[in-house]
Amino acid sequence: MIDLRKLPSVDRLLLHAHAAPMLDCYGRSLVTTNIQNVLESIRQNPQAETFEPTEEAILERVKNQLIQALTPTLTRVINASGVVLHTNLGRAPLSRSAQQAMSEIAGGYATLEYDLEKGKRGSRSVHASGLLRRLTGAEDALVVNNNAAAVLLCLSALASRRAVVISRSQLVEIGGGFRIPEVMKQSGARLVEIGTTNRVNLGDYESALRDGAALLMRAHTSNFKLVGFTSQPELKELTALAHQYEVPMLDDLGSGALLDTSRFGLAHEPMVQESLAAGVDLVCFSGDKLLGGPQAGIILGKAHLVAKIKRHPLARAVRADKLCLAGLEATLLHYLKGEAEKEIPIWRMISASANDLKERATRWQQQVGGEVVEEHSTVGGGSLPEETLPTFALSFNIPGLEQMAARLRQSTPPLIARVQGGRLYLDPRTVLPEEDEDLVRILRTHITGAHR
Ligand SMILES: *Cc1c(COP(=O)(O)O)cnc(C)c1O
Repeated sequence: MIDLRKLPSVDRLLLHAHAAPMLDCYGRSLVTTNIQNVLESIRQNPQAETFEPTEEAILERVKNQLIQALTPTLTRVINASGVVLHTNLGRAPLSRSAQQAMSEIAGGYATLEYDLEKGKRGSRSVHASGLLRRLTGAEDALVVNNNAAAVLLCLSALASRRAVVISRSQLVEIGGGFRIPEVMKQSGARLVEIGTTNRVNLGDYESALRDGAALLMRAHTSNFKLVGFTSQPELKELTALAHQYEVPMLDDLGSGALLDTSRFGLAHEPMVQESLAAGVDLVCFSGDKLLGGPQAGIILGKAHLVAKIKRHPLARAVRADKLCLAGLEATLLHYLKGEAEKEIPIWRMISASANDLKERATRWQQQVGGEVVEEHSTVGGGSLPEETLPTFALSFNIPGLEQMAARLRQSTPPLIARVQGGRLYLDPRTVLPEEDEDLVRILRTHITGAHR
């Protein structure tokens, strides 16, 4: 039981030597409020207190409270899960030069909507679009906030209150609540579902188009696989049919690979270049999936359609910001220079050889123990379902796995491991080389000698 009369005053605590660093760090107003809160909670419930409320102890509590309340909720983590495009961990880490470009633009003014030659207002939409045109051969391009916004914007601008023809097999949920049919409805477009869950043929498309439509749409079923008795027309056939009925074809690619995933022992993910070559009028995809750049939605295609999309009021609401555009331009440049595999982290991870991964896992093992085992990494991010990449992971088979994983998550920086089948795995594929030292230090702290 605490003698409340002995509690120090706020002013006295503010003058204490232990308050000085807090005042430096957080400012007078925040520190005062937190001191008042701690004193108040002691007064409210003195029986509950088990500690001697010395000035030092009270200030210690104030400090913890401040740290807890003010530490940013968005913090960097080490991803040892082996999922390359981990949606919950922010998808693609950016290349060195993308980071530099963003930081350079962040700290000052920029030519975001300024024409240096004319000395007056320029257009935001020129950024990245030149590089995108050069890379893909598309007539024009527009960058928006993300791919969900890109799909919504395309449909709103081109098909509001009109029919959009799409196969039932493509009415998918991507994750995070993005459902193709719901987005289509939100745009005001009328959904015309054709075919069955597993099969759709050209005739199904043709009869729907005969009834009149504004758009023919294909959505890549990014995150699941349809196997067995299935069929759907080739993209080329679909595009030709759409054009026969003078309707544009929209292809939502999702990931939007510019490199061929089959070169890395994975299934072939549809590529942006292939869609454009098949005659598709508009392609849209994410900036932070297999492109390996910042969060963005990219719309590519026929100039007159992109122009119409740019004029729609929603375009303003979903526009990309200057940091995104800076990071995207730097990322695209890697592809133009033919160095994507070397410079873009997700491609470096995807193309890492099993041998190199084994070497890294072994180096970790030499420092912290455990066992190096053959395992599988995945691409994730709602792409390449069921596809895996062979890897070597450092593995521990120890009691209290879940608690151990939780302790790793609470370290600084947090370390995200994979727990599966009674073992804990750390996959070097998704750990950046510069994170190795932190990873080893964290494991040393938490995996005690007895567990090695
Ligand atoms: C991921 C995905 C989206 C959504 O993209 P975001 O960039 O996450 O908004 C839309 N369509 C498909 C087919 C996708 O795979």
